[in-house]
Amino acid sequence: MPTLESLTWLNRFVSETPGDSEIGGRSRQVPNACWSRVVPSPSPNAQMRMWSSEMAERIGVEYGGAETLGGGKPVAGMDPYAQRYGGHQFGNWAGQLGDGRAITLGEIESAHGVLELQLKGAGKTPYSRFADGKAVLRSSIREFLCSEAMHHLGVPTTRALSLVTSGEDILRDIMYDGNPAHEPGAIVCRIAPSFIRFGSFQIHTATGDVATLRTLVEHTVRSHFPNHSVKDDAGRIAWLSQVAEDTALMVAHWMRVGFVHGVMNTDNMSIHGLTIDYGPYGWLEDYNPGWTPNTTDSSTRRYRYGQQPQIAAWNLARLLESLVPLMDEPELLHGVLDAYTDAFDVHHNKMWADKLGLDHFTEDDESLVRELNTLLQEVETDMTIFFRLLCQIASPDVRYLLHAFYDTETVPTEAWNAWLNRWWSRVSGEPVRTSMLQANPKYVLRNWMAQLAIDAAHKGDYSVCEQLHSMLKQPYDEQPEHDEQWFQKRPEWARSKVGCSMLSCSS
Ligand code: AMP
Ligand code: MG
Repeated sequence: MPTLESLTWLNRFVSETPGDSEIGGRSRQVPNACWSRVVPSPSPNAQMRMWSSEMAERIGVEYGGAETLGGGKPVAGMDPYAQRYGGHQFGNWAGQLGDGRAITLGEIESAHGVLELQLKGAGKTPYSRFADGKAVLRSSIREFLCSEAMHHLGVPTTRALSLVTSGEDILRDIMYDGNPAHEPGAIVCRIAPSFIRFGSFQIHTATGDVATLRTLVEHTVRSHFPNHSVKDDAGRIAWLSQVAEDTALMVAHWMRVGFVHGVMNTDNMSIHGLTIDYGPYGWLEDYNPGWTPNTTDSSTRRYRYGQQPQIAAWNLARLLESLVPLMDEPELLHGVLDAYTDAFDVHHNKMWADKLGLDHFTEDDESLVRELNTLLQEVETDMTIFFRLLCQIASPDVRYLLHAFYDTETVPTEAWNAWLNRWWSRVSGEPVRTSMLQANPKYVLRNWMAQLAIDAAHKGDYSVCEQLHSMLKQPYDEQPEHDEQWFQKRPEWARSKVGCSMLSCSS
């Protein structure tokens, strides 16, 4: 098996779009550019801690390369750069953002198409603004484990290849409350067809640089959407409708598995409809559509679970606005938002049909789902456990579902049995259990699970990381050996612990 050195490295983004004439340098505005060349910062003591063997096989490399994947020793053919992009953060235009702590090493040709390898946490770039360009072990474990888990759940996502600790301590104020502490540094190598975001386009329109916008659109479509052409309005609308549909599919999957991204800023929206930038994300435990894990967003909860479909549409509208200068008839762009809504509705209905084992979704089923949503919020109820137990229920009796409730004394038994009977007669006592078992995962990466893995890793023990990495490769399979520990509701200790119920963007 080859190593990183023996791969053929491509640098299409750098060769096909305009860039910065300076290499690296201080934090600054970089007008009229899509990227800046940078030199990653080597780790003083790079140690490989986690490795995705499937991802390695996919790109055709053998285990190793900690030095390069820790920011040192770029191999021949790599032309590392940081991407320039902008974005709307929490609803407001934030201007130039860019890869402040991400550095792309290059692209490689794989059996699965061209893939970009990017280091997260390998040091400063012109887009680092006031920050250090580094990442801590805590957030790197969260990104590695969650992106791999999402892939195995069938949710479109960027992937992870490796996690390397740098041997460096990094100062972070986790809750922004004036109590900074040192944490071990780490670098994840993540992989996607590209890391182009909605904000990658927005920045050029915002600065009036239509020529660069056009070049970037042409590069993106040529490289990543080979079935599309953007030579006229019809082509542009078809391509953007594809982006809309991919985004709708991604968000429908998030809703299905109870994932809350936490920071759906337009700079965190992949043009490929992939889940990207794992920061203060979380998983619904207690079924509460108003929940967000991100404490930075606690006042308006803009990015709460139940609002993710609407936010994706809002973000898409910002992307569409940024493409107005390329359109002969900009009003045609409205059709793309319709494409999003239509696609989301189709996926969402299919999702509910699968989650509830219906053969297909009818209009009558809408009230069945609505009533279920209300009931799930009556008392604290674990989403994952509830749906998983529903797959295996022998008769319409809430007693089969008790493990999902935090307090079995307060369960509204009559209301539940009424709903269960309604559902049971809808499926004639025969829910499509195979669909249900594929739509309702048994194991997800709850925040407290990630936190236990992090706590152990901080003591040098990566066995919990490994156990979760391995278990989450088969999230739909029964793995009874793990149930006592991981098929469980949030433990009491995690209710108000930092990193479990509360997360910040600090990473
Ligand atoms: P995020 O919230 O992770 O999407 O990051 C928003 C912006 O802040 C992006 O431009 C990041 O590159 C930048 N950023 C976040 N953390 C750091 C860091 N430690 N060093 C440099 N830039 C950062
Ligand atoms: Mg980001």
